[in-house]
Amino acid sequence: MPITLTPEETRFQQETRLGRVLLVEDEELIRETIALALSEEGYEVVTAEDGRKGLELVCRSGESNRPELINFDLIILDLMLPYVNGLDLCRLIRREGNSVPVLILSAKGSETDRVVGLEVGADDYLTKPFGMRELIARCRALQRRHRHAQLQAQETTLKFNDISLYPQECRVTVRGDEINLSPKEFRILELFMSYPRRVWSRDQLIERIWGPDFMGDSKTVDVHIRWLREKLEVDPSHPMYLLTVRGFGYRFG
Ligand code: CA
Repeated sequence: MPITLTPEETRFQQETRLGRVLLVEDEELIRETIALALSEEGYEVVTAEDGRKGLELVCRSGESNRPELINFDLIILDLMLPYVNGLDLCRLIRREGNSVPVLILSAKGSETDRVVGLEVGADDYLTKPFGMRELIARCRALQRRHRHAQLQAQETTLKFNDISLYPQECRVTVRGDEINLSPKEFRILELFMSYPRRVWSRDQLIERIWGPDFMGDSKTVDVHIRWLREKLEVDPSHPMYLLTVRGFGYRFG
């Protein structure tokens, strides 16, 4: 019979869950040693012996509409790998918009390697040889940092009914779907959502969004509002979010 967890137990399990690690390392002995140490610690470990296999696993994990596929909570990459090296792999993971914590392992210890590793989006860098306690401590620290960043991002999310704006990710979802906004549209919406129901005149909007050096006229504002309505509103000709306040300007909500 399945055990039913109370909400407190579920939360405890989520908070203490170490999660699934992808380890990409071509040297068998190192791969097995790390995999064993991580599993003993409580991690679920998936291994790949070259960059191409690692990439396959990561890209598959990005397709969330296919539930049989794997998502990772942490990725450990060796730098020198057959087919696709650790740096390229890390770069590709980030290009897919995946923000999973990445730890790079390397036999090289030069400052340049470390800098390049961090530049391609790795979160930490560990030079071989290292002890397993050190590796596990780094993994836990990375996950703590990642969780903290996620919580912060959640706190700064602007929500209004079925619209959510994520300032740090420059992303907006409407009724659950992501929409594409130009940088100006994004900034207008962010301003509106930061001050729900506040009325903004066209001149105030120009000042805040386009800056004091803007040479165009206030019709620019109307055009951007129209574009935003087309993207946000169920019926743009009867807006529910971006409302016209006659004689004054616009307000949100
Ligand atoms: Ca290697």
